[in-house]
Amino acid sequence: MYQISLVTAEEYSLPVLKQAVARHFSLLPQESLRPGMKVTIKPNLIMKGRPEMAATTHPALVKAVILHLRELGIKDITIADSPGGLYSKPLLMGVYEQTGMKAAANECGAMLNTDLGSKVFRIPQGKVCHEFDIIDPIGNADFVINLCKLKTHCMTAMSCGVKNLFGCVPGLLKPQLHYRFPEGEKFAQMLIDLSLLVRPGLTIVDGVDGMEGDGPTGGVPRHMGITAAATAENLYALDLVMCYILGFTPSQVPMVRCAIERELCPKDWRQVDIQGDRNAVRPLENLKKPATKKLNFASALPKPLSAIMDRYQGKLSPRPVIRVKDCIGCGRCAQICPAHTIEITKGKAVIVPSKCIKCFCCHEMCPAKAIDIKSIGFFRLFSKYSES
Ligand code: SF4
Ligand code: SF4
Repeated sequence: MYQISLVTAEEYSLPVLKQAVARHFSLLPQESLRPGMKVTIKPNLIMKGRPEMAATTHPALVKAVILHLRELGIKDITIADSPGGLYSKPLLMGVYEQTGMKAAANECGAMLNTDLGSKVFRIPQGKVCHEFDIIDPIGNADFVINLCKLKTHCMTAMSCGVKNLFGCVPGLLKPQLHYRFPEGEKFAQMLIDLSLLVRPGLTIVDGVDGMEGDGPTGGVPRHMGITAAATAENLYALDLVMCYILGFTPSQVPMVRCAIERELCPKDWRQVDIQGDRNAVRPLENLKKPATKKLNFASALPKPLSAIMDRYQGKLSPRPVIRVKDCIGCGRCAQICPAHTIEITKGKAVIVPSKCIKCFCCHEMCPAKAIDIKSIGFFRLFSKYSES
């Protein structure tokens, strides 16, 4: 039987979250976590952003987990992630500072990873990818705790347990994986292969304040009031239940759809044994979906027409558009773009559309939020993607 735990939490106060974490630990089996282990906490630190933006895991939850681990006699605790962009010490330090990780580590007695090493690990049972470069604090840990944020996501519809593990891949190797697996389905299979390799012993979802709209960084905070958790083998069931809470069907979230196909979780969230506050499991009302997931021309049409439209779906589907007046020309989008299809011209970013694979990494990483996601009118299909 698949099992997860769900505990409501209305605010990011340390006492509330300590209690929530203690309940998760009591509701789930944790035999494998022992004193003396080297434990790595992997939060979502996608960018330098304040906790109130709801793009990153809240430091109060990280603190609560560290304090609980220390109560269990675990002293070797490291916080680690590879945020979007370069995997460099200055970037990591900036991210730790802004996201509140530095204060969490200092106040509660954990280390912040600054080791930039990584190693290749093989996963022979991978479906589309058989090896991954993994950052050392994850590869060398005895036990990984995946502390993900619950968000809608422009490319993958949702970001939760499986998606958060993409940050185990160092820096600019992430865009390379986007380029190798540009289609939603293959990308999702790759993420599942990665999750089977990392196999976090415990995943805890930060859904107190999640993100709705154009996540993972360009959306808006949304109070959800939940935390949820699962052990390694129930990671996919956890994503399945969170998919229901965000108001998606499994077929709309590629990672969940692929996990069901691979028999890693049941087809229906009702087949999951939910311990704790089960009454809080219901879809969030009027949750804003990402712009990329609002349009599906093909499915809205009668069958003969939908087959024709399917062929044009790729061209008509939403894509990134630079708002020239807001672009500060920092070049971060060009640096991250896996298809190398962004140029900085006269201090402004310009996207050349023909090579764009619609991964939305540029939208994710833009510090000025100068990249919108729009459906393109037919006359603009072959021009450059920018508007003043
Ligand atoms: S679009 Fe954003 S990331 Fe790209 S250059 Fe302009 S401000 Fe920087
Ligand atoms: S332009 Fe943006 S969406 Fe297109 S491939 Fe580059 S990073 Fe991805």
